[in-house]
Amino acid sequence: MREKDLYKALNNESIRAGILRKWQNISRAVESVIKTYPFVLDYAKEVKIAKMEVSSNYEYWIDKAMRAFENAANRSKSKCYVHYAKNEKDARKIIGEVVRSGKVIVKAKSMVSEEIGLKKFLHELGNEVWETDLGDFIVQLANDRPMHLIAPAIHYSKKQAARILEKVGIRGESVEDLAEGVRGFMREKFLVANVGISGCNAFSAETGRIFLVENEGNIRISTTLPEKYVAIVSIDKMLPSDELCLKSVLVQSAFAGTFPPSYININEPGSQEIHVVFLDNGRKDAPEFAREQLACIRCGRCQTECPVFQMLGNYWGSIYGGPMGLVLSYIITRNIGIEVFLCCLCGKCREVCPMEIDMPSIIRELRKRWFAEKR
Ligand code: SF4
Ligand code: SF4
Repeated sequence: MREKDLYKALNNESIRAGILRKWQNISRAVESVIKTYPFVLDYAKEVKIAKMEVSSNYEYWIDKAMRAFENAANRSKSKCYVHYAKNEKDARKIIGEVVRSGKVIVKAKSMVSEEIGLKKFLHELGNEVWETDLGDFIVQLANDRPMHLIAPAIHYSKKQAARILEKVGIRGESVEDLAEGVRGFMREKFLVANVGISGCNAFSAETGRIFLVENEGNIRISTTLPEKYVAIVSIDKMLPSDELCLKSVLVQSAFAGTFPPSYININEPGSQEIHVVFLDNGRKDAPEFAREQLACIRCGRCQTECPVFQMLGNYWGSIYGGPMGLVLSYIITRNIGIEVFLCCLCGKCREVCPMEIDMPSIIRELRKRWFAEKR
């Protein structure tokens, strides 16, 4: 995080306007979902317990998950491979060897691909890479960064988004016209794409299945149409069973305010060539005081509800910003930046988190460690 970015964010009215708009809509939607479907709270508790258990013994679960995927690949007699990346450099190398150059790549929404700097790397290898999520597509064309876990283009007004889309010849008077233009543009890319890339919302160590939740349908096309598909699975996405994976994606969509989700994709070895890349990147050896963060299901609610994030958006942090981002970035990099002091310790993030992660306490500990390191 750079100081000048914070001032840039404070001077950018559309960040605040976008997040506040989203905040009101999501808060109302989440409240109504919990009232109508209270069982999601029980699901959340079960998922939290399972995630903490998995995080206490990643070695065992990585081995189990890798074997489950390999067994599924053997059963389907398909060309499916599983890889393990210790860090982001390893992950880029593995994916680079799978993709090589001169390819058209369609990429589904994936923060873990941002974490490993994949798009830039694949471009440099001589590939054409397209984000297929509408928000991420706008961010890509604007040469910007995603501003929120589930709403990457939250900081653009309709007018601004329309101007950005003009860069690739998409024009329209209404949102519907623009969406139709993007759909047409994407359709052409889907038809010629050689490789599809996605992250993973939950990975079943029981069957080796990849669970992905979405509302637009682009993930389904990106991951099934190209002849080759790469799924990046950060190890904190592993769960012991299909049932828990399903519960996890349902809780995620409930707390993202989009319940029930339009699509839940369950990808597994079949006719496609699939590569699953497990990514550690600091998670396996996460310090005990921060380990609870590895139960995060990336619903984005702590970001939307945080008063500081509402002012600064994802400029408050690095790839992952806001409350969850402060802690996850520490787990990944082991660096503590001055940004931990911007938190006002109001406790809102813990209050709204479906996994009840005590981020304020972890942030307080990060502050202590910052002082100890700088002394
Ligand atoms: S405790 Fe800090 S990080 Fe959490 S919501 Fe409040 S200001 Fe944001
Ligand atoms: S920390 Fe909690 S609220 Fe924030 S994204 Fe993760 S699960 Fe959602």
